[in-house]
Amino acid sequence: MTQAAAERMEFKTEVNQLLDLVVHSLYSHRDIFLRELISNASDAIDKIRYLSLTDAGLLEDDSAWRIKLSADKDKHTVTISDNGIGMTHDDLINNLGTIAKSGTKEFLANLQQNKDNVNLIGQFGVGFYSSFMVADKVEVVTRAAKSEAFRWVSDGKQGFEITPAEKSARGTDVILHLKADAYDYTNDYELRNLVKKYSDFVEFPIVMDVEHTHTPQDENGQPLKDAKPEKRMETETLNSQKAIWSKNKSEVTPEEYKEFYQHLAHDFSEPLETMHYRAEGTIEFKALIFIPTLAPFDLLAKEGQKGLQLYINRVFIMSDAKTLIPPYLRFLKGVVDTTDLPLNVSREILQQNAQLEKIRKNIVNKVLATLKEMKEKDYEKYLKFYRTFGAVLKEGLHYDHDKHEAIAELLLYESTTQEAGVLRSFDQYLADMKPEQKSISFLTAEDRNQALAAPRLEAYKTKGWEVLLMLETIDEIVIPDLFEFKQKPLRSVNHGDMEMSDDEKRQVEEEKKKAGETYKELLEYVSKQLEPDVQEVRFSPRLTESPACLITEDFGLSRAMREMWKAMGRELPPQKFILELNPNHRLIAALANLQHKAPMDGKLQDFVRLIYDQALLSAGLKIKDMAAFTRRLNQVLVDAGQ
Ligand code: ADP
Repeated sequence: MTQAAAERMEFKTEVNQLLDLVVHSLYSHRDIFLRELISNASDAIDKIRYLSLTDAGLLEDDSAWRIKLSADKDKHTVTISDNGIGMTHDDLINNLGTIAKSGTKEFLANLQQNKDNVNLIGQFGVGFYSSFMVADKVEVVTRAAKSEAFRWVSDGKQGFEITPAEKSARGTDVILHLKADAYDYTNDYELRNLVKKYSDFVEFPIVMDVEHTHTPQDENGQPLKDAKPEKRMETETLNSQKAIWSKNKSEVTPEEYKEFYQHLAHDFSEPLETMHYRAEGTIEFKALIFIPTLAPFDLLAKEGQKGLQLYINRVFIMSDAKTLIPPYLRFLKGVVDTTDLPLNVSREILQQNAQLEKIRKNIVNKVLATLKEMKEKDYEKYLKFYRTFGAVLKEGLHYDHDKHEAIAELLLYESTTQEAGVLRSFDQYLADMKPEQKSISFLTAEDRNQALAAPRLEAYKTKGWEVLLMLETIDEIVIPDLFEFKQKPLRSVNHGDMEMSDDEKRQVEEEKKKAGETYKELLEYVSKQLEPDVQEVRFSPRLTESPACLITEDFGLSRAMREMWKAMGRELPPQKFILELNPNHRLIAALANLQHKAPMDGKLQDFVRLIYDQALLSAGLKIKDMAAFTRRLNQVLVDAGQ
């Protein structure tokens, strides 16, 4: 065959960044290269096995699934071969020249600044590129079913080269040309140990031809006299291939669970929680599900992650995150194996399968119950979980109406009655509620300081009512979905009126009326001045320390909601607030005084604007005209100094 010209190509920027990080910061973990390559080989076999269920021709009569390791001590190479799906010319360019995961660029740029954070890069799953930790040249010779073969070669620095190749068997050989300090990886025992340690659970046999020495024996098993030991090559299977999820809990050691988790999640850390169970009855399946300790880098992306792996009768079918678990549990890793689903249906049809829906429900119940138990029995551990995955779990309030209460029971928030960082549950809130309180009060804000600056909290403080502080963006979006917890309505401090008894209502109305009469002209003036910006100006005797505050009506959209709608390209009418003035504040009396003495004075206008801008600031909102605000404020300071 005439050798066609080699195609030279550059790596995409993100591949270069990843290579740089992998080679420089993962050095002490370089053993994992083998696990990553075996895992790719195993995925490749999963893929062809799945496709061949509906197109047997793809098998090309080669379905004795195996992953083969071979080492050449003289050439200093280690080869990982599989009879999986193989790669076409375009697959090689797309899979080994770019990184398809969404959010990769941002993640890597971030990580480059913090190269010591090995755990984070572990969460990313370094995959194929980990080869360059031990090799200074990597060759991939591959052939997809019914296709031509190609060779991909790279030194991990300058890009890669692709040339046509010869390969009779379908599948992929990854040939590592080891760096001088990595020659030990050609030792049989080294490879055997690594497979045992990291890849023992791989479903397909990982084999290696090993030289064994035999001494001829007599019928009693004794070495024959004068017999010379004979050397023979034998194929050894290195992994036990045990599907540990199929075993009983009592047969699996904590160490095995940990190793299996690390194998599944490509993680270095231990799982936070392990759920291993068997469902029987209307649907039968076995599940081994883990809650990780650390968040993956793309936790907040809703698409593209791998979730639980679905097996049907020990045949891997898919690991698409959405199939077996709702998005708000996307942090889970694990395996579900069932005998109740048909093997040879398409993934699309499978996704609408009623049995699968039952499995999904069962898993959701199991996970929520496990979390509840963890919260009750090991609160410290639960806090670890919650601080890492709480924001994702909260999405469930929006997406899973059936599970509102079960999810709400798991939620924790900061509170006005606690120190910063101390979290409270709805149940704790209910237990400590004042007898006259009928609802659960909460306040959403960007952070604790901003929340505590809310003038509206003053009345709650006076009454000694607790207010839960919801400080994550997701809170504003999902809390309206909750409405109530254990029959107690949730009420935002910044929406509408505060909860009051009839007596209090009467008293407030009276005070409002009185203030309205005392400051009639001032109220008219302020309303007129702020007319373009606010919906209404009114007095509120509920404020004690602040002169003014802004609120929205009961069903006004929250800030986060508005931002979300805007991002979705929806037109929204401009948001109008209600400005509440504190009739008992000295500033209001001073304003009325100024109005009385010099109704046309420009100062009066400036003061009104300053009060409004100040209310915007304490509500965490932006001032429209910053230059005018500064000018007015400076003028007040100058006047005060004179
Ligand atoms: P990941 O496995 O996380 O997708 P990798 O960088 O390890 O990332 O591999 C990139 C892609 O290259 C894989 O998704 C797969 O499509 C392809 N690939 C890698 N190794 C093999 C192999 N042995 N056989 C077939 N395809 C492979």
